Amino acid sequence: MAIKDKIYNPEMECMSREELTKLQGERLAKTVKLVYDNVPTYRERMDAKGVKPEDITCLADIVKLPFTEKTDLRDQFPFGLLASPKEKIVRIQGSSGTTGKPIVSGYTEGDVEVWTEMVARALSAAGCTNEDIVQVCYGYGLFTGGLGAHQGATRLGAMTIPMSSGNTQRQIMMMNELGSTILMCTPSYAAYLGESIREAGLVPGKDIKLKAGVFGAEPWTEEMRKQIEELLGIDAMDIYGLTEIGGPGVAFECFNKHGMHVNEDHVIAEIIDPITEQQLPYGTPGELVFTTITKEGQPMLRYRTHDICTLYNDPCPCGRTHVRMGRITGRTDDMLVIRGVNVFPSQIEGVLVGIEGVAPHYVLVVDRVNHTDTLEVKVELTEEMFSDTVSHIEKIQKKITEQIKSVVGIMAKVTLVPPKSIPRSEGKAKRIIDNRKL
Ligand code: ADP
Ligand code: ZN
Repeated sequence: MAIKDKIYNPEMECMSREELTKLQGERLAKTVKLVYDNVPTYRERMDAKGVKPEDITCLADIVKLPFTEKTDLRDQFPFGLLASPKEKIVRIQGSSGTTGKPIVSGYTEGDVEVWTEMVARALSAAGCTNEDIVQVCYGYGLFTGGLGAHQGATRLGAMTIPMSSGNTQRQIMMMNELGSTILMCTPSYAAYLGESIREAGLVPGKDIKLKAGVFGAEPWTEEMRKQIEELLGIDAMDIYGLTEIGGPGVAFECFNKHGMHVNEDHVIAEIIDPITEQQLPYGTPGELVFTTITKEGQPMLRYRTHDICTLYNDPCPCGRTHVRMGRITGRTDDMLVIRGVNVFPSQIEGVLVGIEGVAPHYVLVVDRVNHTDTLEVKVELTEEMFSDTVSHIEKIQKKITEQIKSVVGIMAKVTLVPPKSIPRSEGKAKRIIDNRKL
């Protein structure tokens, strides 16, 4: 499959690193002044560190600034972190609340414009033009997925179908009848749609015209990408974002499919050691930290995402100069500590998706029995495998147990469950049930 990658804004996306560093420094200085003058939380924190806006004149000065956390958004809910007067705010979006109470962010007209362009860049990289029909199955509402995707697709002049999430049969009917060419949803839902399409007796490439998908909002693996690409006969591209920074489109993949270009003219990405909070060099995994440098409504200084990944700065064959972030291998909030071992759901997914006979639908159940942590991995068998011999199924079970032991380092109880028995999510998949917290 060859994507016709088009660079939406070459002037910005292919800027020399030298120019970009200068631009980032200028925009950072402006942002710092804006928040210092208008947001008490930032002013107090900077004062406490003895930093004044005048001390921030170039990109390297960023390390002088304080960090921001999700708790700050909760403490200042709903408008405490706004840097622009309320009259200038034209939109409120909220996080899906995967990890607790929702948080909100206010956008000015300019912020919506920047966000729209970021998604347009991502869609262009997936080959989208005004000839495409884009089916958006992210939820519309406070969650940034639906509206973000919608705005970006509309900007490119594509025929945009605001399906929102849910009602899989209707999604497939529309996809078939309207001839959608680009799909936007979570990767777990894309896999589910792929299976449902086949069950409905429809053939990708014939009844289904999809050529690419832009999937994000939750972690997924390379193995999952391959499955989705095969199921739907498409190129599956990754897109990353978070409400606090501006929604989907903060970073996106090009045809190279090796990391997502961070829209660095709008955000500064850093990787830090989550314990020492020191900046780490490119190529080293750590916690991703973002600073917005064009946001007016609710700018964020050094926002700790708790997402773990690696930044790469080697040149990309596509010509874009912006750094790339590797796949999110976990969230520090998602990390399970089982018998003292750090376990990320993505490690288990990597094992499961590589094994024939099991579907990419799983859930991890953690418990504590006699003061010892236990991990049960429940994974669905495919229809074909479900009717296979008991000895064959037992072999699969043994294989998964062994591979989890070798990849993660702990013994898990592997339970193979019938097809369709794990609840499907139309938004972000719920992969962990931790009974220890009850
Ligand atoms: P939350 O899930 O915290 O309620 P959001 O809806 O804003 O809030 O989701 C942002 C989070 O979703 C990111 O911090 C990240 O953990 C996850 N995410 C978004 N896109 C991706 C992606 N492409 N790959 C992995 N994780 C992603
Ligand atoms: Zn590239």
